[in-house]
Amino acid sequence: MSQEQLIQELISTLGADVVLRGADVPERYQTDWSGTPPQQPLALVRPRTTEEISAALRLCSAHKVAVVPQGGMTGLAGAATPTQGTVALSLDRMNSIEDINSQTGLMQVQAGVTLQAVQEAAVAAGMVFGVDLGARGSCQIGGNVSTNAGGNGVLQHGMMREQVLGLEVVLADGSVLPMLRPMIKNNTGYDLKQFFIGAEGTLGIITRVLLRLRPAPKATATTLVAMPDFDTALAVLGRMQSHFGNSVAAYELMWDSFVQASLSWLKLSAPFAERHPMLALINVDGKDEAQLQDDIQQVLEEAMEAGEVLDAIVAQSVAQAQQLWKLREAPAELNNHMHPAINFDVSLPQADIGRFADACEAAFTARWPQKHSLYFGHVGDGNLHVSVDGATVNGECDAVEAELYRLVGEFKGSVSAEHGIGLHKKPYLSNSRSPAEMAAMRAIKRALDPLGLMNPGKVFEL
Ligand SMILES: Cc1cc2nc3c(=O)[nH]c(=O)nc-3n(C[C@H](O)[C@H](O)[C@H](O)COP(=O)(O)OP(=O)(O)OC[C@H]3O[C@@H](n4cnc5c(N)ncnc54)[C@H](O)[C@@H]3O)c2cc1C
Repeated sequence: MSQEQLIQELISTLGADVVLRGADVPERYQTDWSGTPPQQPLALVRPRTTEEISAALRLCSAHKVAVVPQGGMTGLAGAATPTQGTVALSLDRMNSIEDINSQTGLMQVQAGVTLQAVQEAAVAAGMVFGVDLGARGSCQIGGNVSTNAGGNGVLQHGMMREQVLGLEVVLADGSVLPMLRPMIKNNTGYDLKQFFIGAEGTLGIITRVLLRLRPAPKATATTLVAMPDFDTALAVLGRMQSHFGNSVAAYELMWDSFVQASLSWLKLSAPFAERHPMLALINVDGKDEAQLQDDIQQVLEEAMEAGEVLDAIVAQSVAQAQQLWKLREAPAELNNHMHPAINFDVSLPQADIGRFADACEAAFTARWPQKHSLYFGHVGDGNLHVSVDGATVNGECDAVEAELYRLVGEFKGSVSAEHGIGLHKKPYLSNSRSPAEMAAMRAIKRALDPLGLMNPGKVFEL
């Protein structure tokens, strides 16, 4: 059966407005944020219901045509970029918040709802949602689940996996797996939903998500802290956690290279009179705003006396806190200022992150003395991001990747902390996974998608 016949069947089953092809497929569905070369899909399908997704997958399966699930296209690993001859299936139209209950702390949504819409609905119900990241306005909950997204709230609430109580998923053959059970405890055989969290669309299409919400803190204080080096930054994190426990909600570390890029790209004023090797943005939750600010001042004074903190600002208003957090927004500008941006998202044993960053700097400088590289990350949970401007390393992007991932191996880290493997990190997956683990992953893939039609060529080859 021909591809043309498949498209005609998709149109007659779903309607012409659901199926776009050729020049009608907007550019934004041809690649994600990672800079992967764009590829026009065979067709773009934008269903409105689980039943339409099921029908589309049944037809694609009958014609043995592969499907690439697409969320907000903000992924940084090329995982949502179509490959030749595939049908792109976007969740854009499935963006309803179906139910929210502030007593049970549960929210049920369609997978195409944006993260920001979920956050806002949670706040309106007097709760908060535990995941936050810079792409919040565009990324979708289905994409967040499929990449097991992390971001700024992991220290307190864990990654996306910890926010998911249930899923509805359509498998490659069109069958629907209903797993939307509002229970935390449910030890009844395999916890099937976990297979789809972080699977990057290679096992099925997530259509609905049952999310856990968290109680809203009564007060949150933000502080920006300057420190002399990484080991001291860890000491300050430990000091904050020993004083405030799990109420330390975010600890985002920015090396000076990142801070300078942020100031220049976002046209911000320098927060301190002097430059410092490292700044941390810290959020702490509490019950009373004034009391919390006093407590933070006291802890910072102790840290200053111990020589750990060189300077600090404690935000006195929500507006000032938001202004301080703008410093962390440079990643949204990477693609405008780096040509191309070579982005890394690695996990390391927390104590080694500083030495790892130094080792990268030394290795890059030895080969590319003019290189421009930035270091920042959710260091509270062992996650470091590195961005290198491809134009400053003679376009030798592959060599930069090989060098950095060699060092990840040396430091016994993981090649992806939160962005996933997609296309970009596929050659390096085996640095972080044993042959036995790779074999188990392939067995799961074959069991759930025997024809290999779900997002083929992503994460690993069969
Ligand atoms: C400025 C910026 C900041 C970022 N910060 C962070 C951060 O702090 N932490 C972090 O973890 N990530 C971050 N990211 C990366 C990105 O936002 C996340 O990976 C996000 O979870 C992707 O969601 P999306 O909807 O855009 O997914 P897409 O990019 O559309 O897709 C990502 C993957 O999920 C699959 N997929 C999407 N929807 C579904 C579905 N319904 N069913 C099955 N598979 C699906 C796709 O096939 C693909 O494999 C950032 C990106 C940008 C641009």
